[in-house]
Amino acid sequence: MGETIFAKIIRKEIPADIVFENEHILAFKDINPQAPVHILIIPKITEIEKTLDIDPVRHSKILSELIDAANKIARNSGISGSGFRIVINCGADAGQEVYHLHLHLLGGRKMNWPPG
Ligand code: 5GP
Repeated sequence: MGETIFAKIIRKEIPADIVFENEHILAFKDINPQAPVHILIIPKITEIEKTLDIDPVRHSKILSELIDAANKIARNSGISGSGFRIVINCGADAGQEVYHLHLHLLGGRKMNWPPG
């Protein structure tokens, strides 16, 4: 796979509404939000295209950092009390569009189950 739009967002070559950033992680508002709060949380490394690429030894730290960032953003967005959903799409049937690992943090409304 070639470079994704998220690599350009990481390098600030295209704009994004960034809500959190540190050395390893970037989080920004989804351009097509599916809930009042819809944030994408991504690692700055580009080697993980999808969950199937995750190596439990090399990537365990970045995975816990992604979840930690999601929890912090949920608290800062005021949805930690009401609840939220973290989604990772993997592959075509899940509807993955961007092949750079990302967590969707969704909240601010009641979620349906099962998801569509
Ligand atoms: P996926 O379907 O791969 O799990 O999710 C990709 C997400 O990235 C989609 O929800 C889509 O709206 C979002 N997205 C795609 N391009 C851009 C962009 O240029 N900027 C932002 N902020 N979000 C994007």
